[in-house]
Amino acid sequence: MPILYPPRLAGKARELCSYLAQGYRTLGLILSVGRPRIVAYLVADEDWREAPRDYTRPYPTGLPYFTRSVEPPALVLPGDLSPVFRPRTAATLPLTVWHELAHAFLLGREVVRTPAWLGEFVPQAVSAAVARRVGLPLEEHLSRIEREPGFTVRGFRGPAGAEDQMLFQNLLLLLGAAALEEFGEAFLRRIFHALWEEDQIVDEGRAEELLADALGPGGREWLASRPEFEEDQP
Ligand SMILES: [Zn+2]
Repeated sequence: MPILYPPRLAGKARELCSYLAQGYRTLGLILSVGRPRIVAYLVADEDWREAPRDYTRPYPTGLPYFTRSVEPPALVLPGDLSPVFRPRTAATLPLTVWHELAHAFLLGREVVRTPAWLGEFVPQAVSAAVARRVGLPLEEHLSRIEREPGFTVRGFRGPAGAEDQMLFQNLLLLLGAAALEEFGEAFLRRIFHALWEEDQIVDEGRAEELLADALGPGGREWLASRPEFEEDQP
């Protein structure tokens, strides 16, 4: 997967390049699909306003994203991750890169709207699955996540500040890692295909059904047993 970068960020580009290659290769294997044609731009903070993006307003610096506003579509990666990315461990950067790659693979085909928790659960579970495949241990990273941030993944309501977004993403990472532990990685292929096949907007009930079915036998009961997934408290 090609990466474009300014010469002074060559060291960072090399590091990112290896995560991108691992993620790109592994995602193709996990999902057993053709890999989309995408590129990565490593962009310095001072050039951030010029980076390709979907909306005209510049995005906050330090937050990686995927955009289809250029051809081929691109991952835009900052030289330094924003301090909102927590916890900070050796896994933070690769997980973030694999999360964005998962969005890129999913958006390789048309996808209908889903509740935020499902749309972000999928890339978080993917990033944990890539970590398992490439032998990146996640125990320390997961142990430093806030398990009871005061909402559950279904109770989380946007728009939220960057810190709450991070707590939300981290809950989804816990749920994704637990799902992999319980069901293995085959559910990822099933949920990608299920999302590609949906042609109506996915509401709350349908989202739950899609995920439970993708997990396989016992999926519904397992979801109901997870504290991260509890019903929104009024
Ligand atoms: Zn995301």
